[in-house]
Amino acid sequence: MTLVQNPSTFLSDRARGVRQSAVRDVFDLAMTPGLISLAGGNPWLDDLPLYELGQIAQELVAQQGQVSLQYGTGQGTPEMRQAACTVMAADGIPDADPDLVTITPGSQAGIDTAARMLGNPGDVVVVEDPSFVGALNTFNTWELDAVATPTDEHGLIPEGLRETLQRLRREGRRIAFLYTIPSFANPSGALLPADRRDEVAQICREAGVLIVEDNPYGQLAFGADPVPPIAAKHRDQVIYLSTMSKIFSPGVRVGWALCPPALQRAFYLSAESAYIHASILSQMLATAFVTHCDWTGHVQRATAEYQVRADALVDQLRQELDPAITFIQPQGGFFLWGTLPQGADTLPLMHEAAEQGVVFVPGGAFSPDDVPHPTFRLAYSFVPGEQLREGVRRLAPVLNGALNR
Ligand code: PMP
Repeated sequence: MTLVQNPSTFLSDRARGVRQSAVRDVFDLAMTPGLISLAGGNPWLDDLPLYELGQIAQELVAQQGQVSLQYGTGQGTPEMRQAACTVMAADGIPDADPDLVTITPGSQAGIDTAARMLGNPGDVVVVEDPSFVGALNTFNTWELDAVATPTDEHGLIPEGLRETLQRLRREGRRIAFLYTIPSFANPSGALLPADRRDEVAQICREAGVLIVEDNPYGQLAFGADPVPPIAAKHRDQVIYLSTMSKIFSPGVRVGWALCPPALQRAFYLSAESAYIHASILSQMLATAFVTHCDWTGHVQRATAEYQVRADALVDQLRQELDPAITFIQPQGGFFLWGTLPQGADTLPLMHEAAEQGVVFVPGGAFSPDDVPHPTFRLAYSFVPGEQLREGVRRLAPVLNGALNR
């Protein structure tokens, strides 16, 4: 008899608590041949200078292998920390100090590090409703209680946040931090206006609450001007996370955190205890992309392609969807967020849609609660325009059909 018959005998309470997310089912479904996936937020890589990158990679191993294949420091290579500052300057943080940067294996690892270093079990993390499913899973893993604060099509509602924080304080809860994605959020696509960013910072400052700002999509703006991150003006109260995943490659697993000086050491010690450091070879390749390749040109061309795809998706949705189904017109990033009338539940529609040859992510995956949600997320970043249109032709009858039940 094998020792492990029943996994739950062995799993920690923490591991057992991890929700089987609907997103995982979606990604299994998305592997079905012939199916059009509007589920995954994969970047468009077609424009990357692969030959040039290949030559750089060869040199990094053949000429610099003694460094690139060796252990490095927990904070990241000085060159990658400088490259992160170059990217942050383009994001609207012109004067980041490389000594306050820690390189991470992606933004997801930055979220995990923030959660492990700031949260005690039972603490609250305040999140947008809806929020990034990967972050919600991380908070769950660290036994943090994600509490949703209201949003509209522009993102966080400052007054709602004030009330949420006051209520939590009245209830005697410890608030570990606010986790927010102010620019072209995953999943809503919302862009938080500059005045609301200042209000959010002010409200958190008054309440003594730290902000963890996650900004993978800020540069991918096409329907609106980019807005500088909260960290641009309110550096001392924000752990700012970003990544090479959407502007270069998610496969290299390189991101970073910019911390307030007083938290910098705790951040990289926490990071080090989890993963030692991000891959040195990856850091060197990502550095070369920023210093030797036309990275800003790549971001511009990729963003133009995302705009073409978003336009095709919106145009086809307007033609096919019942007007009772609304959506936020994307202005940047990878995602479109839609809403059916109150009372609808998009979770069962996911399976119906898969039978019609298209997958999307039901909105409930992005909320900390388990109630039915009438919302859905469509990713346009990875699917060419004509396929997006076909995807909508398959999806619309399923969504429209749910209205008459
Ligand atoms: N944060 C957000 C808001 C995201 O959408 C994603 C990717 N889906 C991540 C973090 C994770 O990115 P990375 O590849 O840098 O870990």
